[in-house]
Amino acid sequence: MKKALSIVAAVLLAAALAAYGQQPAKKLKVFISVDMEGTSGLIHWDETGQGGADYPLFRKLMTAEANAAVAGAFEAGATEVVVRDAHDSARNILPDQLDPRARLIRDWNGPLSMMEGIDKTFDAVVFVGNHARAGTPDAVLKHTMSLSLYDVILNGVRMPEAGWNAAIAGYFDVPVVFLSGDSAICKQIKEIVGGIETVAVKDGMGKAASMVHPAMAQQMIQKGVAAALRNLKAYKPYKPSPPYKLEIVFTDENLAHRASWVPGAVMTGERSVAFTSADLMDIIKYFRLARL
Ligand SMILES: [Zn+2]
Repeated sequence: MKKALSIVAAVLLAAALAAYGQQPAKKLKVFISVDMEGTSGLIHWDETGQGGADYPLFRKLMTAEANAAVAGAFEAGATEVVVRDAHDSARNILPDQLDPRARLIRDWNGPLSMMEGIDKTFDAVVFVGNHARAGTPDAVLKHTMSLSLYDVILNGVRMPEAGWNAAIAGYFDVPVVFLSGDSAICKQIKEIVGGIETVAVKDGMGKAASMVHPAMAQQMIQKGVAAALRNLKAYKPYKPSPPYKLEIVFTDENLAHRASWVPGAVMTGERSVAFTSADLMDIIKYFRLARL
């Protein structure tokens, strides 16, 4: 009787598996942080914010590059995609034009800033529309977080925004697998996090740039994101070692002075402060406060 029951159970189980197909799809949750300066076609600050005559065109192109990344993610088997609008007002991506399969995060809130919304449940991070750190030659609209910062150095490494954001992803044990932007940031991010898939949509030529057509950029981004996610096991989270030391060099000595008011922060020069902690989240929170 017992044996007969187990045979019946096995037959039922086989029938159930046959009815519902193979194994359930593996979870692949992707976080896409989208900046604007590294969008193909874009070259001037006028094009990056409200009031600029060509801003409507470039927010449309920014949205299209976000969509290319979303499409690449789903092509590679993503089960959930969150898009973080991470430029200026954080209200640039046109919500009605975004791929409806993605969820959108708008406006600013907490210390995670361009990575607001990331947590340990994500499997991969993708950066779109990025630019190089302040002071980089032949880089389009280079800066680090704001025009009042000259340098952001974490554990001795000069950080572009993408490097900082990779460290935030690493705090949650999530690897960055892809970045698009100009060729200068593609090079910088590889120097920091190691081998990741990159797509350069333009090459800076001093203040000018040569660039691929936006439609071509979108194809390259979709293909690159899909390739990176299919190879997810090759990427490791970027995790600098504790204790963490953040040094910020401001362009204005008054801002540096103000950033030294937080307990633990010390001025290290006329325009620079340092803050150390064994907890990276303390560093992340301090940076958000200090650069306001
Ligand atoms: Zn930006």
